[in-house]
Amino acid sequence: MIKKSYERELEKLGAFEISFDMLKLSEKNEKHLKFLNAGRGNPNWINSLGRLAFARLMEFGVAESKRTLDKGDLAGYVDSKEIAERYNAFLNHGDEVDVFLKKIVEYSAEHLGLDKEALITELTNGIIGNNYPVPSRCLENTEHIINAFLQSILYGKADLRKETKVFPVEGGTAAIVYIFDALKHNGLLNEGDRIAINTPVFTPYIQIPRLSNFDLAEINLLATEENDWQIPDSEFEKLLDPSIKAFFLVNPSNPGSRSLTDETLEQLRKVVKKRPDLIIITDDVYGTFVNNFRTVYSVCPRNTILVYSYSKLYGVTGWRLGVIAINEDNVFDELIKKVPDKKKKELESDYSIVTLNPSEMSFIDRICADSRSIGLYHTAGLSTPQQIMMVLLSMTHLVLENEKDQYIEGCKEIVAMRYHNLMSTLGLPEDNSDCNAKYYSLLDIYQLAEKSYDKDFATWLRNHFEEIDFLLHLAKEDGVVLMEGVGFGATPGTVRVSEANLADNDYKKIANRILSLLKEYHEKYAKEKKDK
Ligand SMILES: *Cc1c(COP(=O)(O)O)cnc(C)c1O
Repeated sequence: MIKKSYERELEKLGAFEISFDMLKLSEKNEKHLKFLNAGRGNPNWINSLGRLAFARLMEFGVAESKRTLDKGDLAGYVDSKEIAERYNAFLNHGDEVDVFLKKIVEYSAEHLGLDKEALITELTNGIIGNNYPVPSRCLENTEHIINAFLQSILYGKADLRKETKVFPVEGGTAAIVYIFDALKHNGLLNEGDRIAINTPVFTPYIQIPRLSNFDLAEINLLATEENDWQIPDSEFEKLLDPSIKAFFLVNPSNPGSRSLTDETLEQLRKVVKKRPDLIIITDDVYGTFVNNFRTVYSVCPRNTILVYSYSKLYGVTGWRLGVIAINEDNVFDELIKKVPDKKKKELESDYSIVTLNPSEMSFIDRICADSRSIGLYHTAGLSTPQQIMMVLLSMTHLVLENEKDQYIEGCKEIVAMRYHNLMSTLGLPEDNSDCNAKYYSLLDIYQLAEKSYDKDFATWLRNHFEEIDFLLHLAKEDGVVLMEGVGFGATPGTVRVSEANLADNDYKKIANRILSLLKEYHEKYAKEKKDK
């Protein structure tokens, strides 16, 4: 028996914390079933080529360092003179990884106009990592390559890579924190300002504004299945209110896993035309999991800060690889110039310790400076080996040019298979539209109760138990951990299943355990009804 009072206490915690409590229950589940944690979004696949290329490039870097000093474990620095010849001589024609490392250089020279010698030097020094990142925001050739990658996977047909600046950071998590801090520090967002969020949404996007005393205006993206999980026009009208300063969205959404359609993007473009000062932050971590994805950044480049993370697609959550991208022509730099004089003076004084011309410092450079409290700007920036890993992963995609990327297709197939196993076993209809990333599924337990039995049972379930009760029992009795949806801003009774982190067949097991637990509740219900 799980006490109601305990359940009520638990419901006050964040979704990720509740999930942690449930893990403990489920590991020693009463039926001694195999413990199945579909709560977290960490993928259980990796990209192998990027990693092997990293290892091989490290070997080259060490060989190069030994050219200037070689005394046991003690080696010297990289001398870039004629490094391109040595790079080619070092790599074998017959080896797949070596061929990839050669292709990287050819592709960059041919398609991105990069200098081979300069690129190889950057890759070699970067992987060795014996210098602070310079420029601190992003290594030069690296920036071109990350830009080409973002354009290829996220921008649809828009050509923005040459006018976009990037700041590689420690994953999407750091991106969110740095952006928020810099918006606040620069007076672009102030306490009490209203921020629109498409709900349900990744919990930090709800929690951070709440903790910073912003006033959340919740814009419902996923509120109803009936509007195909798109933002209805009526919700867009809220954005016309000038007291709403910013709009945060995750696209494709987490937990809903749907991307915005072309029509919805067009609506947003029209809104922004009427709200040229609107600040948009789009988190496109799941962009590669839908077909023909188009980011909000490609539709509203002046107003949008783009967040991307390599974590999910390439299975690099432990590496911490994410990026912030902002257009050179943007509304943030303009808004900074319009802050009240007192604030402007303060900011000039803050940034004058790191630049001679503080009023001209761009917002993205300010994000970078703020990430190290300005004072440590000279040692800011993501570690160079991490930046090189981003280059290598980006290149696994770019070198394919117009061929289909079998790695990305393979990742989509994995989550699609798991989604199918889950939904078909539950007897629920599948959404196979291009918009569905299938990385997560949101299940409405009350709806499922009604569909499997009847409305009266669903109402009884809703009235007799705390929302968390079903999930707790699923953990305690059946060893299945899912995440509750309320913390994400979803309607009560919805649960999130991650299709990222279990074996394909486990999703059939999860569906069956959900159905059997529902049956147990139904037996209780039938008995109560009979006893009356
Ligand atoms: C998983 C996830 C991220 C990625 O975060 P990292 O810090 O890069 O691991 C970012 N945003 C959303 C919405 C996510 O679900």
